[in-house]
Amino acid sequence: MRKINTRSFVRATRSTPREINRQILLNLVREHQPISRADIARRMHVGRGMVTSLVSELLVDGSIYEGATIDAPRGRKPMMLYVRTHDRLVVAIDVRFTLTYVMLCDFNGNSIALETFETVVDPAAFVATLGRMIPKLLKAHRAAGKCNGIGLVVPGMVDQRTGRVLNAPQLGWRDIDVRDALADATGFPVHIENAPIACALAKMWLGQRGGDAPRDFVYVTVSDGFGAGVVVNGEVVRGHDSSAGEFGHVAVDPRGPVCLCGSRGCIEAYTSNLATVSRYLGREFSPAAARELLHESGITIDQVIARGRSGDAAALAALEETARYLGRGLSMIVNTINPEQIFVGGEITDLWDRLAPIMREVIEARALTSRAAATPLIPDSTGTYPRLRGATALVAAPLFAAPRVA
Ligand SMILES: [Zn+2]
Repeated sequence: MRKINTRSFVRATRSTPREINRQILLNLVREHQPISRADIARRMHVGRGMVTSLVSELLVDGSIYEGATIDAPRGRKPMMLYVRTHDRLVVAIDVRFTLTYVMLCDFNGNSIALETFETVVDPAAFVATLGRMIPKLLKAHRAAGKCNGIGLVVPGMVDQRTGRVLNAPQLGWRDIDVRDALADATGFPVHIENAPIACALAKMWLGQRGGDAPRDFVYVTVSDGFGAGVVVNGEVVRGHDSSAGEFGHVAVDPRGPVCLCGSRGCIEAYTSNLATVSRYLGREFSPAAARELLHESGITIDQVIARGRSGDAAALAALEETARYLGRGLSMIVNTINPEQIFVGGEITDLWDRLAPIMREVIEARALTSRAAATPLIPDSTGTYPRLRGATALVAAPLFAAPRVA
């Protein structure tokens, strides 16, 4: 999926295919809403006639709507245009190591309902659980007729050609289908994506004004794993077989703890929430024991962070150690991708003021140029549910994507 860059699109002309002009116009409305027809014509460098005709089409198919007028200095007050998002709904799903989150929301990611259940790792049972839950959720909110699809983010690599999950170490899923099975079980189209890539897409597509995200950036998720969505020149980097960006599984110590992927000493085995909680409990992270340890102790990452905030020395020590390893992971990204900025999502951002300086210090020590050392780190607040916004973007973004040009 290509994003239309409304800052630098080749000037639209009468010979530009109508479909492309339509998408340019739709993206301009999304980025600058509320916007008038006159302003669109000025930004697209085309005549009012063409804009009027394209706007009519988009009004008829329901992609945009006309809203309140604004105060114009003089003359007739123009009707302003908005993208219609509020009554187009998505079921957004975030599958994680322990819990699965299911949110009913609109195309802008505004939540209508949020439910969770303990993650069922057997794929068939997982699909069956969602197959029962989603129709009930939609019925309870009289939303079945407005639902445009299901967005599902997974902690692992996804082949976009087949929709198959290639490898999700946290779930033990290898080359399995969930997308088509869930579509069959619910009757809705299902879009599936690697969680950090989906978070990057949400930055590109669901920003307050689209285009807030730069052309080159990386979105790092620190959850029960450490994942990265890499965007270069406005496009997600997937690699030849959909396994690019797996910085979480670069080893920092070959004799380090065993990772969920089976290797030793991966950056993820030091930085994931599971690793932080294990460290806080005085245990080395171990894939075999992680699930039990969480159950036995009843301690969550949120509690470790809350204790850290209230000054608990053990919690702070565990979190600061995580931050040092995160700094190493982020410096690898700085040195290999050289992004304009790095977004960081995950519970760890709830103690950002304390942990960010530690990450910065490690990056500054390891970066190869002074500008790379200054790469901005931007926390993505947990309150906005970044991964569920990512799932939402999977369904909402194709509406705005550039048409395929043969
Ligand atoms: Zn690993």
